[in-house]
Amino acid sequence: MKKTSNIYWLLIVFISTILASCNTTDKKTETTSNTYKHWVWVNPQSDDTEEELAAKYKKYHDAGIVGIFFEADSEKHFRAAKAQGLEAHRWMWIMNRRDALQAHPEWAAVNRKGKSCADHPPYVDYYRWMCPSRAEVADYLVNDVKNTLAKDYVDGIHMDYIRFSDVILAVNLWQVYSIKQTEELPEYDYCYCDICKAKFKEKYHKDLDSIEYPQESLSWRSFRYDAVSNIVNKISEVAKANNKPLTAAVFPTPDVAKRLVRQDWTNWSLDAVYPMIYHGFYKEDVPWIGDAVKQGMRGIDERFPLYAGLYMPDFKNNQEVEEGIKYALDNGASGISIFGDLSDDILAILSKYRTKK
Ligand SMILES: [Zn+2]
Repeated sequence: MKKTSNIYWLLIVFISTILASCNTTDKKTETTSNTYKHWVWVNPQSDDTEEELAAKYKKYHDAGIVGIFFEADSEKHFRAAKAQGLEAHRWMWIMNRRDALQAHPEWAAVNRKGKSCADHPPYVDYYRWMCPSRAEVADYLVNDVKNTLAKDYVDGIHMDYIRFSDVILAVNLWQVYSIKQTEELPEYDYCYCDICKAKFKEKYHKDLDSIEYPQESLSWRSFRYDAVSNIVNKISEVAKANNKPLTAAVFPTPDVAKRLVRQDWTNWSLDAVYPMIYHGFYKEDVPWIGDAVKQGMRGIDERFPLYAGLYMPDFKNNQEVEEGIKYALDNGASGISIFGDLSDDILAILSKYRTKK
C-alpha cells in the first residue's frame, strides 16, 4: 500500500513538473516571440461573397495579420477568416447598448443634471449608455457574452465601448459638436442614478448629493473606475470558463482613458489590449503614437500584450503610416491593429514588420 502511494505521489510530482514547465514555456513564447502580430477591425458586409472573402483574407494572412475583430455576428465571415488561418473574434459594444435600453430604459446611465441616456443621449443619437452599477446590466452582458462564446466559430471576445460616455470629448471633436469642454460639464458627466448614489454611499459613507463639487471627488472617481472594471471582471470569468481570450479596444493612454471616459484599463483582467491611438482626434502628430504606446506599456507592466490601434484616415500618406507603425513597435507594441481601409499598400507596409529586430 505504501509503495503504491509513493508511486502515486511521484507521478503527481512528475506531472506537476511537466505542467509547470509547459506554463513557463507558454509565457516565454508570449513575451519573447520574435514575430509581430497584426489585427484588423472589420464591419462585415452581407453582400461579400465567399470567393471574395477567401482572396481578401489570404492577403491579410500573408501580410502578417493574425486575426480579425468582426463588429457583427456573421458566420460566413468568421468561417472564411478561419479557413485562411486567421483568428475570428467578436467585436462587441458593451456599455453603449441601444438594444438593451429599448427593452429596459431604467438601466440607462443618468447625467449630473438628472437626464437619462434612454431619452436624452449626449452628443449623438446612438449614445445610449447603460449604468455599470446595476446588477441587471452585468447579468445581461454576461449572458450576451456567454451566448456569443458558445458559438464554435467565435475565437474570442473583443470589447468596445467598455467605459462611461465621454465626460470630455477628444479635443478635435469639440469643433464638430461646437462644444468647449475645458471642464467636466454636468450634462456629459455620468452616472448619477439612484443605484450609483446608493452604492457609493454604502462604500464611502458619503452622500453624493452633499458633495459640493462631485466632479472633483477622488472617491467618486474611483467608484466609477471600479464600476466599469467590475463589469470587465465578470465578463472575464465567462471568457476564462470558455477558454477563449478577452481583449478590449480602449482610449489611447491610461491617463486619457481615465480623464475622458473613466476607463481604468491597465487594471483589467485581459488577454491583450488595443488602445485606439488615433492621433488626429487629439490634434497630435505621428510621433505621439510612440509616447502613447510607451505610457500604456508602463501601465500594464507586461501583464498582457499591447497592440497599437491606428486610424488610417488620420495619416496624410503611406510614409506617415509606416512611421506610425515604427513608433508603435519601437516602444513595445506587440503589433498593430488597423482601423480603416486596409489597402494593398497598407498590407505591403505591414508585411515589412513581421519579424522583431
Ligand atoms: Zn448609475
